[in-house]
Amino acid sequence: MKILLNNTSLFESLRPFNDLGFVPTMGGIHKGHLSLINKSKKLCKKTIVSIFINPKQFNNKKDLKSYPSNIKKDLKILKKSKKVDFVYLPKFNDIYNDKKKSQIKLLKDDKILCAKFRKGHFEGVLDVMNRLTKIVNPKKIFMGEKDFQQLYLVKKLLERKYKTKIIPCKTIRDKSNVALSSRNFLLNKLNLKIAANVYKNLTNIKKNINNSKNISNFLKIKKKVLENNHKIKIDYLELRNIKNLKPSNTKNNSRLFIAYYLNNVRLIDNI
Ligand code: AMP
Repeated sequence: MKILLNNTSLFESLRPFNDLGFVPTMGGIHKGHLSLINKSKKLCKKTIVSIFINPKQFNNKKDLKSYPSNIKKDLKILKKSKKVDFVYLPKFNDIYNDKKKSQIKLLKDDKILCAKFRKGHFEGVLDVMNRLTKIVNPKKIFMGEKDFQQLYLVKKLLERKYKTKIIPCKTIRDKSNVALSSRNFLLNKLNLKIAANVYKNLTNIKKNINNSKNISNFLKIKKKVLENNHKIKIDYLELRNIKNLKPSNTKNNSRLFIAYYLNNVRLIDNI
């Protein structure tokens, strides 16, 4: 496993390879990330993982400051997996070296779910993914369905601009079905118990959704009930079509999306 600390070292090391699988991360490596790496290892000749906490996608300074970071531990886990050929650890200037302002804007139709509640977040994500793709030039990028809206927006942008394919990967959960996330390192046992209950409630809500005549109203009520029962603040609870993320009136081809706060930590999930 070779560690690439800057772009010069990256360009030199990657030059011989044209079948690269890329797993971009912000560190806090967990089994969710490892599942993406496994898939890349299966489908590509070489696998590169990046660890870069992109400040431009944080709409909240406190959130950026508290974001879990432990490079030493991450490198240990990645090495132990024996599936990673390269780890790219860029500095801010490796990514944002051209001083050009990003031209990336979201369409009005895309300003939904997290885009509505985290202003500027996806503009930052799309900008960094655009830059990383130009630098790494991978054949495939592996991304998790846990961040479904991110996957949807990145795929739409990058597959239009580059030959790179975006490969979706299933959400990995812990024993109590909580979606793995680096942010879970900021949660205590009680928080995790609540997150497990929220997941249970989500599956029930989805099960019963087709019995309801007015789904949007049904979800509004369920949102209130969840907020009251678990003392959590929910940004959204919405059923949307997986192809275009438009609001959906049926369970078919749809996912139930949630974003909520536990212990001031913002969690998202979709089922
Ligand atoms: P992050 O480090 O949180 O930015 O995530 C890096 C990549 O890992 C993104 O494509 C995420 O969607 C993906 N990912 C994060 N958590 C999970 C999970 N529990 N299951 C599958 N993929 C995940």
